[in-house]
Amino acid sequence: MVHIVVLGAGIGGLPTAYELRHLLPKSHCITLISDNPKFTFIPSLPWVAFDLTPLENIQLDIKNLLWGRGIHWIEGKVTALDPNAQTLHVAGKIINYDYAVIATGASLALDAVPGLGPEQGYTQSVCNPHHALLARQKWRKFLENPGPLVVGAVPGASCFGPLYEFALLADNVLRRRGLRHKVPMTLVTPEPYAGHLGIGEMANSAQLVTRLLKQRDIELIENAAISEISPQKITLADGRILPFQYSMVLPPFQGASFLRSAKGLTDAKGFVPTLPTYQHPDFPSIYSLGVVVQLTPKELTPVPIGVPKTGQMTEAMGMAVAHNIARELGAIKTGPVRPTLEAICMADFGDTGIVFIAAPVLRDPVTGKRRFSVAKRGRWVSWIKVAFEKFFLTKMRLGMSVPWFERWGLRILGLSLVEPIPNELISDSQSMSVEHICKLTMR
Ligand SMILES: Cc1cc2nc3c(=O)[nH]c(=O)nc-3n(C[C@H](O)[C@H](O)[C@H](O)COP(=O)(O)OP(=O)(O)OC[C@H]3O[C@@H](n4cnc5c(N)ncnc54)[C@H](O)[C@@H]3O)c2cc1C
Repeated sequence: MVHIVVLGAGIGGLPTAYELRHLLPKSHCITLISDNPKFTFIPSLPWVAFDLTPLENIQLDIKNLLWGRGIHWIEGKVTALDPNAQTLHVAGKIINYDYAVIATGASLALDAVPGLGPEQGYTQSVCNPHHALLARQKWRKFLENPGPLVVGAVPGASCFGPLYEFALLADNVLRRRGLRHKVPMTLVTPEPYAGHLGIGEMANSAQLVTRLLKQRDIELIENAAISEISPQKITLADGRILPFQYSMVLPPFQGASFLRSAKGLTDAKGFVPTLPTYQHPDFPSIYSLGVVVQLTPKELTPVPIGVPKTGQMTEAMGMAVAHNIARELGAIKTGPVRPTLEAICMADFGDTGIVFIAAPVLRDPVTGKRRFSVAKRGRWVSWIKVAFEKFFLTKMRLGMSVPWFERWGLRILGLSLVEPIPNELISDSQSMSVEHICKLTMR
């Protein structure tokens, strides 16, 4: 019997636990651990901040989801992980594991810029459920006394879809309430140009985004570094000052603190390095997926930014991890796979939206090109985003990871989640697996 712990029950961790349960015989034990009793569909948090949907509508109770599914549940914050001893600390207990799958998502680097909020600063965020609720509280007050609104991201940020979504949704909500004329709006981004999205060369995304911001009378400041935030004032590195009555500023992401303090496990930001199998290069019992995975930008930008790790990339990483663990344990016979790292990202702006497709997200290091990329605008994007949220929550309720019709739908779009690992990249991963399996069978 092998014990697999999945750390984090978010967009990556929950479907991965389901997929592991689906692939592995019941003799193997799977435990899901999370510091939040609820699963949250993070991409819908901007709607919560604008009071367009209650938080409860995008959350599910994890204990109920797991009932009768053969997955153990522990609610608690993981505070330490020892990759040599294969133990972790959670809720006052020490847990032993044979495999740990790390899916603890983004911890927010709120100390990146003085005054970055919400807890210790003056700006809002929509990166986790608690922050979305704080942002909503502040938004309600703002509607009573509107003034300048600044939406931005600080240097090192990597998730830019919500930046445009927040600014353009704010515009839409304010127009519908007849308040837009009272709110001068500015969008500040560290991207070298609007629509770069941390990956560059995204079809016509730059033109689409820039045109839309102009049409909606939102001042755009590109390639900019926010250097300080004080009450009602954002200062840029070039000395410009942006007054605000309400501001949402996205922070950089990092790995959770227990990962950063585990010696040799992560880089300085707490991101976990991986082999093509998504196994750790030095600790064969550790796999990781989602925002915690180390993905290095291929291109240096004047103001530093990170590579986005979107929902589809996260799901694909989870499917690859579950496949590769099941393969190591002899439950499936096919070769190891890796995620394709293709992304579909939908940004809803209320009366329109933009869908971005990057296949793959990281461009070929030799040619500098990706297979294809698409950016399309239309009202239908908003409808599809709503439908996708409902679909995702339904499959989580039903205990499904990625059903056949989702894979089929992706194939129609020319996309896939995982692919075989080319032979020349297999050797490292293979020897790691053999080493780990030997250890497991000797116990
Ligand atoms: C505002 C916003 C909008 C977005 N919109 C889109 C979009 O439109 N499309 C898209 O594809 N992607 C979008 N993304 C990105 C997408 O949400 C992420 O790719 C995805 O959530 C990453 O999944 P994850 O499992 O790595 O992290 P999460 O989904 O954040 O899950 C992490 C889990 O780990 C738990 N956890 C954290 N620390 C600990 C600990 N120490 N102990 C125990 N548990 C812990 C958390 O409680 C959480 O349950 C958006 C992101 C944001 C912030």
